[in-house]
Amino acid sequence: MSQYQLPPYKIKMVEPIKLISKSQRINKLKEAGYNPFRLKSEDVFIDLLTDSGTGAMSHFQWAALMQGDEAYAGSRSFYRLENVVKDITGYKYVIPAHQGRGAEQVVLPALIKREGMSVISNIHFDTTRAHVEIAGGRAIDCACEECFDLDNYHPFKGNFDLDKLKTIIQEKGKENIAAIIMTITNNSAGGQPVSLENMRAVNHIARENNIPIVIDGARYAENSFYIKQREAGYENKSIKAIALETFALADIFLMSAKKDGLVNIGGLIAIKDDLELFQQARVRVIPMEGFPTYGGLTGRDMDALAIGLEEALDEDYLKYRIDEVKYLGDLLREGGVPIQYPTGGHAVFVDCGRIAPQIPFDEFPAQAVCNELYIEGGIRGVEIGSLLLGRDPDTKENLKADKEFLRLTIPRRTYTFEHLKYVAECLIKVNNRGKKLKGLKFTYESPILRHFTAEFEPCE
Ligand SMILES: *Cc1c(COP(=O)(O)O)cnc(C)c1O
Repeated sequence: MSQYQLPPYKIKMVEPIKLISKSQRINKLKEAGYNPFRLKSEDVFIDLLTDSGTGAMSHFQWAALMQGDEAYAGSRSFYRLENVVKDITGYKYVIPAHQGRGAEQVVLPALIKREGMSVISNIHFDTTRAHVEIAGGRAIDCACEECFDLDNYHPFKGNFDLDKLKTIIQEKGKENIAAIIMTITNNSAGGQPVSLENMRAVNHIARENNIPIVIDGARYAENSFYIKQREAGYENKSIKAIALETFALADIFLMSAKKDGLVNIGGLIAIKDDLELFQQARVRVIPMEGFPTYGGLTGRDMDALAIGLEEALDEDYLKYRIDEVKYLGDLLREGGVPIQYPTGGHAVFVDCGRIAPQIPFDEFPAQAVCNELYIEGGIRGVEIGSLLLGRDPDTKENLKADKEFLRLTIPRRTYTFEHLKYVAECLIKVNNRGKKLKGLKFTYESPILRHFTAEFEPCE
């Protein structure tokens, strides 16, 4: 245990959780149409569906709720938040939003000036890609090769492929690139970090071609911690200094504050110095999110976020955070479960194509493992594979994902090492009977975003 950082906090308030019996779990899953999204959370013992808005607030944050003003125009809560964001980013302009996708819908259309302009990211997060496309843009991913290698260590699997980035800009023409989005950590690649060296090179390429850089920084603090741990020359720098150096390489910061903001709801837009873009964003935010000094948040939300942003930069907290994900990953690897290695910042990605190779991709092996894990231990993960990918819009055929992942996402400051040990024990048992698992077939499938609402029955 001593090789892992222990939690730098003690528990002051608890929320009871209950493990219902195995026969009840079997029934609940059947009632949910074999889709864990449709389970009630009270029927889940350990919920690893997402790390978004599922973390625990500190007593400082709970206390700050009481000093939240009623927020519309110019509340003290807004100015407290604005001060913190300016201090952390070094940027001039700050607008709150109700969550990350709110920030995206305000800013991305202002950057995508013409139909068909491209946006390039290491990997676009789902909602980011959706907002690029809704605004008439084309989302192009540009991840490094190591990103797709599950088994071999690489310190920064979230990096851009720099040669590919240059080639795309050349092919499309720099005047047709609306923005480069640096997603840190790279969520869709398993929360893998991006190095400052790589971001500096991206910045250089963008500057040469006069392309604005956006940081999609839901987990910028976790990324900064990885830089401190793994990048030469940063061992002795503070997390805050590393974050500041990161922000200096971009022009715009969009954040889902439900991750490294350590709050249950909230988002942020910060703009370095582009007054015109700020003015556009300020106009756009009003009909979508709310007046620019609240953006869909209450005063108390903004106060809790102001404190959460500072707490998330604490090095002991970050070491513990990254370590608890690593701990679960280490136990699974020792138990013979195939996972993405090394683990990223917020989740363990389990390679279910190798656990249940007998299940064809269009009977969803990762969903089958996910369901079996719920039956085994009342644990809820989420499928990130062919079910999520959906169908080809033209041929209507099921698309085959590159990897059939089960994602076990760890909420911040919520579960203990004992909980994670239990998760590992349950999944090791499921892995050992993986070759006996059966696939699933649809009894209901919605035309878009089917994974949220689909219903299934087990194949014979
Ligand atoms: C979560 C997330 C978003 C979207 O934010 P929401 O708060 O869920 O709307 C955007 N980008 C990244 C990288 C994310 O992780």
